Amino acid sequence: MKICYNEATMMKHSCLEKDLEFCEKHGYDLIEIRIDMLKEYLTRHSAEDLASFFASSRLKPFAFNGLECINYRSEADYMAIRQDLELVCSLSKTLGCYMVTMDPTFDVGHHTIAEIREETCRVIHDLAEIAQPFGMQLAFEFIGHPQCCVNTFAQGYDIVRTVSRENVGLVLDLFHFHAMGSDTADIAAADISKIFMVHMNDVEDLPRGACTDDDRLWPGDGAIDTDTILTALRLRGYDGVFSLELFRPEYWEMDIETAIRIGMEKTSAVLGRHYGQMG
Ligand code: ZN
Repeated sequence: MKICYNEATMMKHSCLEKDLEFCEKHGYDLIEIRIDMLKEYLTRHSAEDLASFFASSRLKPFAFNGLECINYRSEADYMAIRQDLELVCSLSKTLGCYMVTMDPTFDVGHHTIAEIREETCRVIHDLAEIAQPFGMQLAFEFIGHPQCCVNTFAQGYDIVRTVSRENVGLVLDLFHFHAMGSDTADIAAADISKIFMVHMNDVEDLPRGACTDDDRLWPGDGAIDTDTILTALRLRGYDGVFSLELFRPEYWEMDIETAIRIGMEKTSAVLGRHYGQMG
């Protein structure tokens, strides 16, 4: 089991340099690098600078985050997604980072589950063809919002299973799992090797379908039945990466190092109940 930091957590006022420094200092194993923050970093530094940081640090890169709204896109918008994928593939070997996340689109109009599956699988196959020669894995994240075309664990898992490629798996985000009422029985029935990462967070106690990213809270501080979800994962043998991912504007106003430290404490406390002594 490894603890990871997703840069969305402090993205409003932080930058990759600060996230690297404070994640290393406060004991995170891994970092998910936001592609927009990476591009900004590369205006000031080289990819080799970043590689040399990781070479001399305990902290390692885990994934690039991410390719957004991949399905039902215009030709021009889809080309931009492909370009982002080509960029991270080109950096993968230098940085030793071999995963990229991707997520589905909102407000796509009237489509059945089967139509959405077909369109999403088509796009994922295309992206996976680009990624495969680089040894890059693609982690698909369902989004727990009523307007998103893939919004439950079961629907996301069905797509990943239908794609049936070794380099394609799922992100299970606790917030998204809770927000549209995903079922832990579906975790119990899943091929656990298809879960590439778990996003750690919590959320205010709101009605189903009403949760937004702004409502996210530190792990353990909200209404998600985290222990039941983690128990289901643990029973299936999941022992992979848990990545702290928040988007709460109130936290973005905090001191960056303080927030990164608190994030580690909160994440460790929740995981420690299921994965033994941390640290
Ligand atoms: Zn997430």
